[in-house]
Amino acid sequence: MFTSIRWRIILPYTLLVILSVAGVGFYLNNILYQTQLQTLQERLTDDALLIGNSLLETLEDEEVWQIINDSSAHWAELIGGRVTIIATDGTVLGESHQDFAQMENHLNRPEIRDALNNGFGSHIRYSQTVKYDMLYVALPVKQGATILGFVRVSLPLNEIEARQAQSRTTVFTTMLVAASLGILLSVFIALRVTRPLQWLTQEARQMTQGGMLRHIPSSRQDEVGQLTQAFNALVEKLDSQIRALQSERGKLVSVLAQMTDGVVIADGDGRIILINVAAERMFKTPSESAIGCTVAQILRHHQWIELWERCRQTEQEQFDMLELPRQDIFIQGIALPLGDALPEHILMLFQDLTRIRRLETVRRDFISNISHELRTPLASLKALVETLRSGALDDPPAAQRFLYHMETEVDALAHMVSELLELSRIESGQVPLKLKSASPRKLLAKAQERLSVQAERSKLTISLDCPKKLPRVRVDKPRLGQVLMNLLHNAIKFTPSSGSIILSAQAQDDVILFYVQDTGRGIPADDLPRVFERFYKIDPARSTGGTGLGLAVARHLVEAHGGKIWVESVEGEGSTFYFTIPILQSPEQ
Ligand code: ADP
Repeated sequence: MFTSIRWRIILPYTLLVILSVAGVGFYLNNILYQTQLQTLQERLTDDALLIGNSLLETLEDEEVWQIINDSSAHWAELIGGRVTIIATDGTVLGESHQDFAQMENHLNRPEIRDALNNGFGSHIRYSQTVKYDMLYVALPVKQGATILGFVRVSLPLNEIEARQAQSRTTVFTTMLVAASLGILLSVFIALRVTRPLQWLTQEARQMTQGGMLRHIPSSRQDEVGQLTQAFNALVEKLDSQIRALQSERGKLVSVLAQMTDGVVIADGDGRIILINVAAERMFKTPSESAIGCTVAQILRHHQWIELWERCRQTEQEQFDMLELPRQDIFIQGIALPLGDALPEHILMLFQDLTRIRRLETVRRDFISNISHELRTPLASLKALVETLRSGALDDPPAAQRFLYHMETEVDALAHMVSELLELSRIESGQVPLKLKSASPRKLLAKAQERLSVQAERSKLTISLDCPKKLPRVRVDKPRLGQVLMNLLHNAIKFTPSSGSIILSAQAQDDVILFYVQDTGRGIPADDLPRVFERFYKIDPARSTGGTGLGLAVARHLVEAHGGKIWVESVEGEGSTFYFTIPILQSPEQ
């Protein structure tokens, strides 16, 4: 408590006030005492002079010395003190308060000796006779230069002391009031000086506990005022720096949150200090429980732990790839030392390349499939041309047959190119849809009608299973017809004779769910996710007809209508292709 500035001001101040007041009080008290003593001394001197003068004649004549004792008593009564008349040899000739005959020689009394030597003697001492302090004043009684005797007048000092006690009380009270005022003043000054400091301390404390940054009002120009101004300037600077930091942090947090790559920062001990949302998802750990854990606890996979360890040891950027074929996951990890920005800290970046990998596979397969699709007709064209050249031209009926084959191949090629072109136009949104209200049932019926001959030829039954009252949809009829035709065409193509095909539609929430179900050969589970890719064919020999573009076209057209397409299939039992189209109309009347 006493270490505070307030007490450091109050205590010395109080001490100073008490000491100076006590000093002044003591001094005053002393002066008062001395003044009273001097006044008394002067009065006694006057009295002694008066008595001496009146005794001049009596002292000259030894015959009349016996009256001296009586006069002493008389004078003592008049002056209210004690009077002693002493002869030059020290014999007491008269005494107002005692029997003078019993009194010893007084020549050695200090006041008498002083009176003899200096013409005046004064002494204070304790009187054994009256039992308290007495002030003695002695004067020689002189006739010319001859000393006839001494007059000694004395008074008890208890009277002065009583008066002194009174004035001491007054002085003490005054001093006490002065000291109290002085102490109060010191407290006031201390409070005035320390209050802004206290505010400053409180504010600084609040700020360290996360409170708001505030200005402290101050109109003072002294050092405390300057300190407050400096503090306010500091607050302003801090405030702007905190704002700048917050905005930087906000940017960083949003960048990290939006990043699809996982970001993890570990300190020198391998403890996680930052993990972004993507990394949380990748390692299936929420950031609250990940922070403070070790790299091994969070990244788990030994390859990533080794990557971190390598980077820590070499202090160089390190890469690694993690492939989990079963989960179809392919991740690239990069570990970077953060250098001077954060010494010993390592930033780890995890890029999920699964999608890119898949796209690469799709692209590779696409190129190989398209080459395959082109190679067959081109090879047969080349063979036909060679056959014609090597003599078949001379055989007109054979030449006609070859030309017919060549035309078929060229038509197939042209058909494929136009399908491909159409697909890329749909994909790039260059085919505007002419949306019109349509009945789902009528759409299905039309597709059924168009392919019924083909189905009959393949000895298949196509049945329509669709409620009459279904909400209408807004579709581009020829395009949606094409989707249904592609699906139905496949169902016919891949279903052995005497199989059955069901065309159906039903309302589901805010969509109409269409589906084409067959009892055909089905699709292997591994191929299911890929059948909608361009040129994708399940048959590795690509022996079945078709370009492999039908389902890709169907998917793009359904998506252009705001719907989704998928397939469910069991190999050997049949397939069901589903697609949805959003409902836009009230139910069919
Ligand atoms: P294609 O012109 O070869 O029929 P699609 O894109 O229409 O091309 O079909 C791609 C592949 O999907 C086909 O080659 C076939 O292997 C498989 N497929 C499509 N529909 C069916 C079905 N209903 N039953 C079995 N397999 C099917």
